[in-house]
Amino acid sequence: MENCIFCKIVAGEIPSQKVYEDEEIVAFKDVNPQAKVHVLVVPKQHFATLAEMNLAQAEVLKHAMMRIPFIASTLGLGNGYRLIVNQGADAGQTVHHLHIHILGGQTLGEKMV
Ligand code: 5GP
Ligand code: ZN
Repeated sequence: MENCIFCKIVAGEIPSQKVYEDEEIVAFKDVNPQAKVHVLVVPKQHFATLAEMNLAQAEVLKHAMMRIPFIASTLGLGNGYRLIVNQGADAGQTVHHLHIHILGGQTLGEKMV
């Protein structure tokens, strides 16, 4: 997808601090961290939101979710962490390439749920 910042990160066209990569996903540090540890997990294939995916394409989400405990362990998040997936304007999604935030490294504050 042209002009997608996360596609460019996946392609290595713009730099990022990658912490994990395999055939299907990349995880890298958020440039504007909202917690001591803040990493984004993105599918290599471009989807703006969950609504764009069909069931077969959504297999990458299962893969991502199953790799997150390993990624979290490499980040030292043995005491827990929070996952957030913003979808669309009301959620404040700013980068329209589906991503899972991993937040941790500290006691996390107020939460909505
Ligand atoms: P959203 O608000 O869409 O759920 O989250 C987008 C996240 O991407 C934000 O936390 C923002 O700091 C991060 N971000 C935006 N541009 C870049 C970038 O160029 N590099 C990295 N590493 N993170 C970015
Ligand atoms: Zn993209």
